Amino acid sequence: MLIFQSIQETQSACAQLRGEGRVLGFVPTMGALHEGHLSLVRAARAECDVVAVSIFVNPTQFGPNEDYAKYPRTLEQDCGLLEREGVHLVFAPTADEMYPEGASTFVLVEGVSERLDGASRPGHFRGVATVVSKLFHIVCPHKAYFGQKDAAQVAVLRKMVRDLNFPVQLVVCPTVREADGLAMSSRNRYLSPEERRQALVLSRSLKRVEEMVEQGERAAHRLIAAAREVFAEEPSVRVDYISVVDPDTLREVSEVSTGTLVALAAFVGGTRLIDNTILRT
Ligand code: AMP
Repeated sequence: MLIFQSIQETQSACAQLRGEGRVLGFVPTMGALHEGHLSLVRAARAECDVVAVSIFVNPTQFGPNEDYAKYPRTLEQDCGLLEREGVHLVFAPTADEMYPEGASTFVLVEGVSERLDGASRPGHFRGVATVVSKLFHIVCPHKAYFGQKDAAQVAVLRKMVRDLNFPVQLVVCPTVREADGLAMSSRNRYLSPEERRQALVLSRSLKRVEEMVEQGERAAHRLIAAAREVFAEEPSVRVDYISVVDPDTLREVSEVSTGTLVALAAFVGGTRLIDNTILRT
């Protein structure tokens, strides 16, 4: 497995692979890999000839009071996992390599970037769109793999790819969960045992919403109220948002139908977690 820090080496290795006529799959990550990330790698391995993975904790997508400095960095362990999955190339640049002194060009997907996590984390999706654009220019993948767990990110990147004509196909993979329902996240390792238990309220409230929809409920405000009632069972967990939205525009809907996205974010102790579900009616 090739491991590169430099953009130039990555760019030429990826160009060579594409030049040999191989279908190149790409999985961008921030590392601290878990089964959620590995599910994307496996999907890419199944559908592509060669797979590149990036590991980069992107400073421009963190707010000033967020966890950039303490975000887990486990590069050696991550590379071990990726090697076992048959990944061909890992790109793990430094922040200086990606953002040299004086870099001042950003990608802003207007509208959709200001909704859901974009409303709570101003500038977050500008950082995401910028880094993913740069990574796409470096790797030039045929297909790029993202998790449904970050549903708002998917909406932003789909629009970016369409608006800027990136010649890449986005593939969205289902959220991988722990046996008890908690969506896997690199941030779960911040949780104390008690917080880990409290964090189950996120998936439990989504389950409650799904059950109500199964029983015929279609009114978004009643679904949100029910989800909030479940959150009331864990008073120390603070809801950031619970939204019922169109999955492409992230605009709120009043009536749900098949494909409607129910997304939420909550603080468990100092850790902000997100989860979501796509409804079927
Ligand atoms: P991150 O390292 O958190 O930036 O995530 C890298 C990619 O892995 C993103 O496309 C995420 O949506 C995806 N991902 C993270 N957690 C999960 C999960 N539990 N299931 C599926 N995909 C995930």
